[in-house]
Amino acid sequence: MNTAERTQTETNPFADLFKSQKLKSQKLRGGSINERKRKLKLIKDWVANNSNKIIKALYDDFKKPEVEVLLSEIQPVAAAARHAIHNLHRWARPKSAPTPLTLFGSHSSIYVEPKGVCLIIAPWNYPFNLLILPLIEAIAAGNTAILKPSEMTPHTAQLMENMMDELFEESEVKVVQGEIKTTQQLLALPFDHIFFTGSPAVGKIVMEAAAKNLTSVTLELGGKSPVIIDETANIKDAAEKLVWGKFMNCGQTCIAPDYMFVHTSIFDAFEAQLKKAIKKEYYNAGEVNKSDYARIVNKHHYARIAGLLEDVVEKGGKISFGGTANAEENLIEPTIITGMPNSSRVMQEEIFGPVLPLVKYENMEEVIEAITQKPKPLALYHFTKSKKNTKRIINEIPAGGICVNESVLHFTNHNLPFGGVNNSGIGKSHGYYGFIAFSNEKSVLKQRVGLTSIKFFYPPYSNLITKLTRIVAKYL
Ligand code: NAD
Repeated sequence: MNTAERTQTETNPFADLFKSQKLKSQKLRGGSINERKRKLKLIKDWVANNSNKIIKALYDDFKKPEVEVLLSEIQPVAAAARHAIHNLHRWARPKSAPTPLTLFGSHSSIYVEPKGVCLIIAPWNYPFNLLILPLIEAIAAGNTAILKPSEMTPHTAQLMENMMDELFEESEVKVVQGEIKTTQQLLALPFDHIFFTGSPAVGKIVMEAAAKNLTSVTLELGGKSPVIIDETANIKDAAEKLVWGKFMNCGQTCIAPDYMFVHTSIFDAFEAQLKKAIKKEYYNAGEVNKSDYARIVNKHHYARIAGLLEDVVEKGGKISFGGTANAEENLIEPTIITGMPNSSRVMQEEIFGPVLPLVKYENMEEVIEAITQKPKPLALYHFTKSKKNTKRIINEIPAGGICVNESVLHFTNHNLPFGGVNNSGIGKSHGYYGFIAFSNEKSVLKQRVGLTSIKFFYPPYSNLITKLTRIVAKYL
């Protein structure tokens, strides 16, 4: 640790923890890949043996249904651990790099080394998945980590603290709970990498703090993820897939379909299919099936989403399905809205709740223009049978990820990089991409003793050398 780092850490309440992790991270550099795999297996086994505790904590936090916990918190974490265990030797192996003619005689390779001490900050919406999945990537890459769960899901946060105390020494992995001030204190420390998942607004705060220590960051952020349902789409298929992607977790998903462009020619038929799909998936005898539908996480977010609906109505939009809100239970029905102006808050802010605006469109140009005028989305969904339209959308609209005729499932393929662009994120995670995010790719060039191609060009610079250099500069 240098002097500046030392002064900064000494006055910080987490100084001792940070120092112990710094020492440990140096020791881990010499550790084996099998040792990392052993730790990943510890996590995988703990998750398998404690799934009931995870399900209970998520229910206590926001009544998340068991199937959704299994599908979106437990399975992705277990699968990520299995994937890393299976591939780690290959990922971590030094890789040879080609040698250009100018460097003849030498050999170049890329070594992947751990970054060191990492800070992982998670949001509340998938509180288990979004803290433990990056931890798997950090451990696979050979790091130590301090984990900061969201204070808004305290039951899951406590469970994860217990989990880590059971599995690891605090010099290796430690959960730190607390409010914003705690996160700020952690952010002041000279971490080797910060992996933050949350809103673009807090992402900026994190990046600013990281800049003070020139700490690298992965920012997994949010924003408005649009859907395009063109005139060739199978509307029943689209409606069923989108209703699940939108209302799972009560719409509190970073890659949830946020708003939808629907071609005028199929608008009414699609809207009717959406309503049918919502009733089929989430209603029982005319009432929301509460056991299959999570709640809004707290009063603050409940009031925010209720405010979005009031704003729609004030601005002349129409609630075409749902809209009933129950403040006592933090419950807002799956809701469809239409006819709102572009200035309404639902068209400007990330909705992050069970409210789905539908927008009519006539031609693809206006859709592409509308989407590309907003910040680049984290996800984009296209429902279609037209390869030509899909090709155009993939080529012309920047986005973190695109699903064609599917919603949200690209998150679950470990072989795809996951992350946003600019406002929706910086850097990628999942599988190999997550492993690399927590690693430094170190270039190593090995030369033979007594041999070097550059020797021909050592000074004094004669005319011959100058001529030779010109040839090299032009052709090699
Ligand atoms: P948030 O940005 O409010 O909070 C995220 C974390 O930052 C929490 O742990 C919180 O304690 C901390 N935090 C909050 N304010 C802070 C401050 N001023 N200084 C330092 N730390 C602070 O986000 P959220 O409400 O928990 O989650 C919702 C957001 O996260 C949405 O924008 C959503 O799209 C995004 N998200 C993105 C992904 C992804 O993978 N890209 C996944 C889930 C959620």
